[in-house]
Amino acid sequence: MKETYLGVSVSRYNYEQIIEQLEHRFERHEQSTIIAVNPEKVMTAQRDPVVKRLINEATFQIADGIGMILASKIKGGAIRSRVTGVEMMERLLRFAEEEAHPIYLYGAKADVLQKASAEIARRHPNIHIAGQTDGYEQDEEALVERIHSSGARILFIALGSPKQELWIERNLSRLPNVLLFQGVGGSFDVLSG
Ligand code: UDP
Repeated sequence: MKETYLGVSVSRYNYEQIIEQLEHRFERHEQSTIIAVNPEKVMTAQRDPVVKRLINEATFQIADGIGMILASKIKGGAIRSRVTGVEMMERLLRFAEEEAHPIYLYGAKADVLQKASAEIARRHPNIHIAGQTDGYEQDEEALVERIHSSGARILFIALGSPKQELWIERNLSRLPNVLLFQGVGGSFDVLSG
């Protein structure tokens, strides 16, 4: 269920299909990662093999950006609607709330994080925010330990690309109880209003 553009994988799944896949993966205690792909990242991947690898190794590469839809149409692919990082996060927050999966928010400036967190709690009154740390925390060891002991099942990480993806790659196996990692870029800024 993927298409390839200049060597970069893009998932064909829409929001509902991703959530459905995640439900099964959570049942099996399998870890998943979500990365947003847009034409700019496809171009970066042409000159940076690390970026290409990080995209291709993610579980779901969502087609963020109208350019991906155009590319799919031109190449005879099947991707017809965008799956944006911000909307994906919103769907995942709903999933977390309904299924009682604790979330952790990591990234952005302290005031942005605080506002985003308050907005999430306002929109999803039953969600369990297990913890939050701004994106300028320097002690990665301590942070990983904090996330681990928080009991979080879903980690939203907003450090920008490829910083957030590199962080996920370094720490995925050290956080075996975090079953979903989404790199959300500037989404906390969007949520903070
Ligand atoms: N950021 C961070 N720590 C860093 C660098 C960036 O927390 O060391 C945050 C920054 O405050 C902003 C987000 O990462 O909230 C980057 O958003 P941007 O829109 O640049 O990311 P993109 O979506 O373009 O990857």
